Amino acid sequence: MTVTTEPHGTEPAAAFTELYGTAPEGVWAAPGRVNLIGEYTDFNDGFVLPLALPHTARAAASRRTDGRLRLHSSDVPGGVVSLRVDELAPHSGHGWAAYPAGVLWALREAGHPVTGADIALTSTVPTGAGLSSSAALEVVTALALNDLFELGLSAAELAVLAQRAENDFVGVPCGIMDQMASACCTDGHALHLDTRDLTPRQVPFDLAARGLTLLVVDTRVKHALGDGAYAQRRAACEEGARLLSLPALRDLPHDGLDTALTTLARSGAGESVIRCVRHVVGENRRVEQVVALLDAGDVRSAGPLLDEGHRSLRDDLRVSCPELDLAVATAQKAGALGARMTGGGFGGSAIVLVEEAAADAVATAVTEEFAAAGHAAPGIFAAVPSAGARRLG
Ligand code: ADP
Ligand code: MG
Repeated sequence: MTVTTEPHGTEPAAAFTELYGTAPEGVWAAPGRVNLIGEYTDFNDGFVLPLALPHTARAAASRRTDGRLRLHSSDVPGGVVSLRVDELAPHSGHGWAAYPAGVLWALREAGHPVTGADIALTSTVPTGAGLSSSAALEVVTALALNDLFELGLSAAELAVLAQRAENDFVGVPCGIMDQMASACCTDGHALHLDTRDLTPRQVPFDLAARGLTLLVVDTRVKHALGDGAYAQRRAACEEGARLLSLPALRDLPHDGLDTALTTLARSGAGESVIRCVRHVVGENRRVEQVVALLDAGDVRSAGPLLDEGHRSLRDDLRVSCPELDLAVATAQKAGALGARMTGGGFGGSAIVLVEEAAADAVATAVTEEFAAAGHAAPGIFAAVPSAGARRLG
């Protein structure tokens, strides 16, 4: 099998003109992402290392001044969703349209004079695959409104408002990684982010120049982050920090882990709290170790840390699933340098770091094992570190 990189999408400007009868004022794009390492750390004030995909959500958009917001997505059935901006309220439904509508709501809540818009959306980011189609949709909407209404907000400020839309309007308790990755990543780099102060650092990650490929294996198992398991892990982490009297688990250094686990056991913490604490502290350290290797130009040595990260997510945090485990184990057996699930888990995607020359063989092995196990065929593509949100025209 041949691994491809560039998805083909539809043209949002043409759709806009057909839907709304005039040409849009502009067109914007915001990417999906994969996280190289640093899972379930962002809501613990920890570290993450995502990179943007070439897959993007795109928005063609124009201002309105009459208080109306009209939204359309070429990727879902149904026509234009028409809402009044002054009637937007959290948790009021609207299905997929809650993501972009929530962004307009969050901007207005923050005092920005956004008086309405017509927006036509289209995306090549697979949905529910752990690749942040939701953040791509939010961030592209935020950037379009920022430009149209000349709000002058920074990429990081837009990411924070997009997260607020997802947390408070849609009702998904996600951390800040996905929106920051979509807003702030740059071509050829991974984004080393301290989620406590949102300081972004671009870490060179030129896979092609090093003869490497990062495969994404979409298991096609749709995760459902809203189903409570994600929120339960989050609550367990917060409980761990509280029992240790720390502002967040980020404040527990790795060399204090054993003592902290003893303290937790003595204080009657449940097994799930102890496992979550162990994962988060180990995962924060793995991010720092991978960043050091990337800075030193030794990308290959990051492979075993990806393997270790997967074991921690599977055995301690328990957020993997049989299909993710099969993808990872098969890739490892077929000669990958390292592999792990990426994103929130319970389905979604795995990443595989592999020598370029071996990428096709690994992809074939994973596809064959999925067929032998009776799973749906996985979607496999190569992740090229791409640009963050931008105006296209
Ligand atoms: P992920 O972000 O991992 O893809 P989420 O469950 O967080 O998964 O977000 C997926 C949801 O985002 C979809 O169910 C849909 O409501 C919305 N969404 C994403 N992309 C689009 C799109 N192109 N058109 C309409 N809705 C979309
Ligand atoms: Mg999402």
